[in-house]
Amino acid sequence: MNSEAQRSGAVAVIGRPNVGKSTLVNALVGAKISITSNRPQTTRHRLLGIASFPGGQLQLVDTPGIHGEQGKRSGKAMNRMMNRAARGALEGVDAAVLVVEAGRWDAEDGLAFEALRDAGLPVVLVVNQVDKVKDKGSLLPFIAKVSEGREFAAVHPLSALKRKGLESLVETLLGLVPEAPPMYAEDEITDKSQRFLAGELVREQLMRQLGEELPYATTVEIEKFEEEPSPKAGVMYRIDAVVWVERDGQKAIVIGKGGERLREIGSRARQQMERLFDAKVFLQTWVRVREGWSDNEAALRELGYHD
Ligand code: GDP
Ligand code: MG
Repeated sequence: MNSEAQRSGAVAVIGRPNVGKSTLVNALVGAKISITSNRPQTTRHRLLGIASFPGGQLQLVDTPGIHGEQGKRSGKAMNRMMNRAARGALEGVDAAVLVVEAGRWDAEDGLAFEALRDAGLPVVLVVNQVDKVKDKGSLLPFIAKVSEGREFAAVHPLSALKRKGLESLVETLLGLVPEAPPMYAEDEITDKSQRFLAGELVREQLMRQLGEELPYATTVEIEKFEEEPSPKAGVMYRIDAVVWVERDGQKAIVIGKGGERLREIGSRARQQMERLFDAKVFLQTWVRVREGWSDNEAALRELGYHD
């Protein structure tokens, strides 16, 4: 047993879309609970990643990126909902991690810092994606520049993807949360249900495998999620997933020639589910058309999107 007092607290993970917030949360938790892709707006929901360490527990609030007015779809219900979720992420947290991409500091990053500081939170700057920086010598001047006139509780250059530099970040964060017993059991890794995570893993494959515009017009609904005892593996899951699209043409694209694309989406999603649930998974997927869902808050709620 660790003789030092246990610490436990919530940490908001904030930053522009695509800087690696969800990748960082997954790396700290040690499992893929938050989906990632190289497209902005992959994360649509606020999600808690629970990371337990010998010194304590961090409840990491992963957020959709905060979207400015520049986004093409910025007026849409989906974006409004995502922005509300990002702001709500600051309630009840003990500290914030501001994630930026190494070598890049935008006006939006400055605004995010100010919002966090004004909320009275200690702000830890994570300079992510350092694996992509060839000239490591450029990192120090970059950090010096962005730290000018801004008081960060700490600055951590790291690579969330390669899981480099995480230990010292964990140490910093545990130092910023109060002495308290863990909020969740050690084996809990998220506040979301397996059913929700299953839907997200299908959506991740849509984001990763489909062309430019399509993914934003799709969502996933888990129609069936059944756990059964399995003689070999302990438990197994039977999961039916419906991919909702807006138009018939999009349906054809998701299904692909001879059903090839949908099969690939289903197969990759199933592999990810088996890894996350540590069990055998039987996954069936369908595509259905529902017009205009992404601009209709009521339809979004019905499909399980809440802020
Ligand atoms: P989010 O929108 O901030 O949550 O960003 P994601 O976690 O979804 O990551 C966006 C993209 O950046 C994905 O393709 C990740 O694989 C990639 N990425 C995240 N962290 C790193 C990193 O440390 N190094 C590199 N090279 N890529 C990263
Ligand atoms: Mg994300």
